[in-house]
Amino acid sequence: MVVSKKIVIHFPKRLADQPIISRLVKQFDLEFNILKASITPAEEGLLVLELTGKQSEYEKGMQFLLKTGVEIQSLSQDVTRNEERCTSCGACITICPANAFVLDRKSRLVKFDNEKCVACGLCIKSCPPRAMEVHF
Ligand code: SF4
Ligand code: SF4
Repeated sequence: MVVSKKIVIHFPKRLADQPIISRLVKQFDLEFNILKASITPAEEGLLVLELTGKQSEYEKGMQFLLKTGVEIQSLSQDVTRNEERCTSCGACITICPANAFVLDRKSRLVKFDNEKCVACGLCIKSCPPRAMEVHF
């Protein structure tokens, strides 16, 4: 399945001169469209991109981006959790590349932090009771 998603990438100063985007589009065969690019006085970069490609390659690309140390925000999608469905099984904790799920050791409940989510979609397929939902 081909997907097209808009994301915001924040580059810290130490990564501003790295060829991260060219590696992303080459390695994962993604097409990109730059919607906005700017650099702050502190030399941090901000890029708003539309990425199009195969869903599986997009997911791998997001994992690659997160490993480089850039910060990503999703613009076009919001991922939420249906709390009534979640069984706190923990399957999503190791899957999520953005570390948006954390096990609360006291309550043994899995907490979801929507602010960290980059809408890669991995948890939606892997959640056994289908508690994770994507909204466009
Ligand atoms: S995989 Fe689904 S059910 Fe399991 S903890 Fe995560 S959100 Fe909850
Ligand atoms: S879609 Fe799910 S797996 Fe992907 S970043 Fe968001 S919470 Fe993590």
